[in-house]
Amino acid sequence: MKCKTIISELADYLDEALDPILRASIEEHLGKCKDCRIVVDTCKQTIEIFCDSEPAPLPQTTRLRLHEALAKRLRRVRA
Ligand SMILES: [Zn+2]
Repeated sequence: MKCKTIISELADYLDEALDPILRASIEEHLGKCKDCRIVVDTCKQTIEIFCDSEPAPLPQTTRLRLHEALAKRLRRVRA
């Protein structure tokens, strides 16, 4: 099992939608590979944060900054 395989199966692994054999080999790899473990842990935490929190409206300043950043990026792409 290679790191690339872990990444490509990551979504299904986190959804617990993988078949048990594939799941077991991913877990075996995670036991040996620190890099993949970090990736999996980070994804898990991100998902938990998003699932736990109520959808909140963006604060006005964040919204403006986001708009600015997007507008800048769009201008650059069109230029
Ligand atoms: Zn790995």
